[in-house]
Amino acid sequence: MTGISRDAAWRRRTEATEAPETEAAADGARRLEVGDPSPESRVPSPDLGDSPSISMQFVRSAEGLKAIRDELGDCTRCKLHTQGRKQIVFGVGNPAADIMFVGEAPGADEDTQGVPFVGRAGQLLTKMIEAMGLSRDEVYIANVLKCRPPGNRDPQPDEVETCEPFLFQQVASVQPKVVIALGAFAARTLLKTQDPISRLRGRIYDYRGAQLIPTFHPSFLLRSPGYKREAWEDLKKALGLLGRQPPPPAAAARE
Ligand code: URA
Repeated sequence: MTGISRDAAWRRRTEATEAPETEAAADGARRLEVGDPSPESRVPSPDLGDSPSISMQFVRSAEGLKAIRDELGDCTRCKLHTQGRKQIVFGVGNPAADIMFVGEAPGADEDTQGVPFVGRAGQLLTKMIEAMGLSRDEVYIANVLKCRPPGNRDPQPDEVETCEPFLFQQVASVQPKVVIALGAFAARTLLKTQDPISRLRGRIYDYRGAQLIPTFHPSFLLRSPGYKREAWEDLKKALGLLGRQPPPPAAAARE
């Protein structure tokens, strides 16, 4: 069980509640509904074999991430280790990714599998990534907190303070060009602000050598699918910062 299920009932629920008003809205919504874009429509990933510098960064970062994970160990630095978490959920993806997604904290599915964003919200995040013409293997995905808060409650300030240095180290190791902060919690934590996500999104921020784009959390998009249009604008903006474009809608929707 990978957690990346293609639960037909979940898709129907999303489609039934979504009513895009314009062509752009329809495009944005459709892209976050479709399955894999065809392989030829994918944005090509860097050919590691052809570029010694990319290859070096890949190796260095993979080693860096391993060192960070080793340092984290079976972490007991904050109270979450006593509050029912099964395991630490560190991060997943390309150690030298151009794009890094940062969420809030693992949920129940992530806690069980040890991988970020594999539950329902993760399934939608996967569709968002694929709509961009990318795969999960080409980006890096992590959370502010590495342990599941009990009952999926909000992370608490002491937990964030203890855990965020590990996220900072992950960012320093991956050296993404673009960080996409998923949801209010991640955006506020990374940007050190209390502004609402509605005010934060739509702008690009300098962040630790990268450019940061805040967007809506996939869990929010599951509850409020009408906001997928704005999320899609954010994802296109992220691609634009890399000089890329999403695959044409026809290619993305073909499968
Ligand atoms: N929500 C998050 O913020 N992160 C996950 O890994 C899963 C759900």
